[in-house]
Amino acid sequence: MGLHRLRTRILAVGHRMVAAGLVHGTAGNMSAKDRVSGHVLIKPSGVSYDALRSADLVLVDRHGNVVEGRLRPSTELPMHLRIYAAMPEVMGVVHTHSPAATAFAVARRPLRTALAESAAIFGPEVSLAPYETTGTARLGLAAARAMKHGPAALLENHGVVAIGASVEDAFVHALLVEESARVQWMAEALGGAVPLPAAECRRIRAAYRERYGQATR
Ligand SMILES: [Zn+2]
Repeated sequence: MGLHRLRTRILAVGHRMVAAGLVHGTAGNMSAKDRVSGHVLIKPSGVSYDALRSADLVLVDRHGNVVEGRLRPSTELPMHLRIYAAMPEVMGVVHTHSPAATAFAVARRPLRTALAESAAIFGPEVSLAPYETTGTARLGLAAARAMKHGPAALLENHGVVAIGASVEDAFVHALLVEESARVQWMAEALGGAVPLPAAECRRIRAAYRERYGQATR
């Protein structure tokens, strides 16, 4: 797949992030790794999603040197690069401050899985990544560690990071984190969500991985 196509896909994900209410203005960011070169295409810093064009996305090497682009990359670039370095299978990263999930992140409460649908993706919980300063590689390392068992983490006092085998998958995972957080928040008013037992979460996830999708894929 050419870089041009990857640029279009990242831009489309940016627009889906806005439409889903996960980000607004210039907040949050997303990136994808180019399979051929191993370079990373990322949102530029300080450009709002409505103004963003695919040509504005910045191509960097694994050390963060700009390979292509006239704008500065997102300030969270070190986090993205650290995640790609820690998990070679990851091809897309999405970072948001979506409100319900961020409420759990600032309360420093992991998102214990209560929805069967979430169990299929996340297993027993979306874990907390211990607080690290924004814009640092240490934040990426904390996030990568917290995502050992699932494709998303809550960044303490900050927001959400999600990964995937594509930037689209990373987006879907970020969306599911927000939906799970919203449901749990509402359930608090009813006495609190009842988490699914960890063993059941693992069983659902294993079954999902085996059966979901098309056999030809
Ligand atoms: Zn952020």
